[in-house]
Amino acid sequence: MNKVKKILLIILPLGLLVWYLFCLPRQLFRAPLSATAAAADGTLLGARISADGQWYFPPSDHVPDKFARCIVTYEDKRFRWHGGVDPLSAARALRQNLSRREVVSGASTLTMQVIRLSRPGAPRTLPEKLYEMVLATRLELRHSKRRILLLYASNAPFGGNVVGLEAAAWRYFGRSADELSWGESAMLAVLPNAPGLLHPGRSRARLLEKRNALLDRLAQRGIIDETECLLAKDEPLPERPQPMPDQAYHLLERCRREQGDGPFATTLDAALQQRVAAIARRHFDVYRTNLVDNMGILVADVHSGEIRAYYGNTRGCAPGVRGADVDMVPAARSSGSTLKPLLYAAMLDDGQLLPTQLVKDTPYNYNDFSPHNFGRTFDGAVPAHEVIERSLNVPSVRMLEQYSVERFLGVLQAMGFSTVDKDADHYGLSLILGGAEISLETLARAYYYLAAELSGDTVYEDFAYLSGTRRERLPVRRIPVSRAAAWLTFDALSNANRPEEEASWMDFAAGRRIAWKTGTSWGNRDAWSVGVTPDWVVAVWVGNSDGEGRAGVTGVSYASPVMFDVFSALPGSGWFARPTEGMTRLEVCHESGLPASDLCPHRDTLWVPDVAERPDICRYHRLVHLDPEGRWQVNSTVCPPEQIRTEVRFVLPPAQEWYYMQKHLEYRPLPPKHPLLDAASSGAGPIEVIYPQPGLTLVLTRGLSGTPNGVIFRAAHADPSATLYWHIDDTFVGETRGEHTLRVDPAPGDHRLTLIDGQGERKVVLFSVR
Ligand SMILES: [Zn+2]
Repeated sequence: MNKVKKILLIILPLGLLVWYLFCLPRQLFRAPLSATAAAADGTLLGARISADGQWYFPPSDHVPDKFARCIVTYEDKRFRWHGGVDPLSAARALRQNLSRREVVSGASTLTMQVIRLSRPGAPRTLPEKLYEMVLATRLELRHSKRRILLLYASNAPFGGNVVGLEAAAWRYFGRSADELSWGESAMLAVLPNAPGLLHPGRSRARLLEKRNALLDRLAQRGIIDETECLLAKDEPLPERPQPMPDQAYHLLERCRREQGDGPFATTLDAALQQRVAAIARRHFDVYRTNLVDNMGILVADVHSGEIRAYYGNTRGCAPGVRGADVDMVPAARSSGSTLKPLLYAAMLDDGQLLPTQLVKDTPYNYNDFSPHNFGRTFDGAVPAHEVIERSLNVPSVRMLEQYSVERFLGVLQAMGFSTVDKDADHYGLSLILGGAEISLETLARAYYYLAAELSGDTVYEDFAYLSGTRRERLPVRRIPVSRAAAWLTFDALSNANRPEEEASWMDFAAGRRIAWKTGTSWGNRDAWSVGVTPDWVVAVWVGNSDGEGRAGVTGVSYASPVMFDVFSALPGSGWFARPTEGMTRLEVCHESGLPASDLCPHRDTLWVPDVAERPDICRYHRLVHLDPEGRWQVNSTVCPPEQIRTEVRFVLPPAQEWYYMQKHLEYRPLPPKHPLLDAASSGAGPIEVIYPQPGLTLVLTRGLSGTPNGVIFRAAHADPSATLYWHIDDTFVGETRGEHTLRVDPAPGDHRLTLIDGQGERKVVLFSVR
């Protein structure tokens, strides 16, 4: 027996000790929390009510000093000294409770209250109370006083569905607990043990009484002085709950969708996010009058690849804005012209294109695809950088045709445009005019790749919007554009001289260098603007999220003003330094922009990517032989050699020349060939049909009376004085001189247009009419 007793004497205390060690659950609180998003500096951006309907924020990392002093003074003045149970008040409470045979006096220390909060639904009986005391002592062994106070502040009820100090501070005072006054802290300190007092009615007077009594005690203990106490007692109680902040609705929703309930420490700049929202709202008020309701704005830091402002849509700008719940940052929309600079950059790298090189800008038709430029004019020939600056459609299509749709799709996919996932046949050449869908995010990211690469920063594959996100570096081989090409592209995009896009806000662009590109989709459904400096990428989309187009909605008029306002809210930037490697100087012809030939009279020196391929040298400057008066082109068969004047002239092909002359008054066309010269022997004929292009299918319209409207055909002749004789299917339909335009009215079916000049030169074009 003695042995058994001895064993029991050892085992029992040992068992008790083991039980004591493991009696407290690892995780005390398990209720679902609110999802919250904070800015990089910790500012609360937004919160959602928890799954069980509580405003219950994730624990913060500290208890603000004012609240800590208030709660300790009010609830547990010996908190700093006891071991979880305060023997003095426990003894007093036990005496009271025993005499009344029920639990009337709490006598709970803050530690015990933490235990009770963690055991919701536990009966309020004496055994339970004793058990909680044991658990409280165990909690004191596990955690510091600081941590226990934090557990209390994070999990105490504050009336209604508000749990935890931080949620309470936002709910009742509209700001963080760190920013509360003594009066506010004191009110929140008395609330957990009388949460019903906040309801309107007579109980508010009791709440005020309790708060002021606490403030008096704080003053008695010298924690606040008399003046502070008087001022704090003067503060009114909050009238009604404040709305929770909702500064980044779409980002918070996105985080929740991707990662559950958070909390989310974002990379956003709280002040910038607020300014961007204010800018959006100001423009929204104007755009709304044109029934344009939605907008998305993304601001990223080039150096870190982190998002600083994420404005998903116009939610909250006005009651019930349609479509405003849609997050426009990841939404796929028609790209408009926003991809043109990437084609330009790819072609510069390829050596196929020089920035100054003339690109053909004349009517284009291929398989019923007839793009036109903004304003429906043509320049005849235009330098490549101007194609990008002015976003000309027709030369861009020609450039893509030269580069190939397939290869350009490869560039876009390498740059992360994951929604551009069909094959070349699907897109065709309209890819460059908005045939593909992209998102604000992928657009901003592509421009970020170039800017970060050029700034010498680490290029990350993705933007980060949560701090501490581990990201992949973008492998160098995946960046399909060299620094040299990126620099030249940004250079072209920063040119503020955009004659057809005049607006008052353009003045801003002059004061600050920004590389920017706009885009407008077919049917005015999407307005884009993306801008880059060495420090920032700003991308803006404006339109209706349901896809409704509205007249007048263009990138320049709707998205760019927003983008420039956002830039003006950002710190200024310098400009990209020219890359020290991978560039070389090249002498180019001043007129054609091509590598200069011996004949080119004016030359410019240009920095270009150092690649093996180059366009051919300038063939626009050529030697021409003229008669002494300069009226005819001649050769020695029609003019004595000693009389021939030989000149170097800049000569464009006839179709380009016709348009080019409209805008370049200095252009001198060649005089005609001497009548005795055989024109056919000089290669291409002098006649060029501008419209219709070979193979075009015309759709003729009819007027109100039912008569056909007809169609204007247009041609050009190398000799300005030539007469052209027009035939459709061998029937003579008219003659033209000078400007070769003719109104015709062909019947439906296939036709052959034949033009013949006075020298017997002939040009045939097949077309059809539907
Ligand atoms: Zn030249």
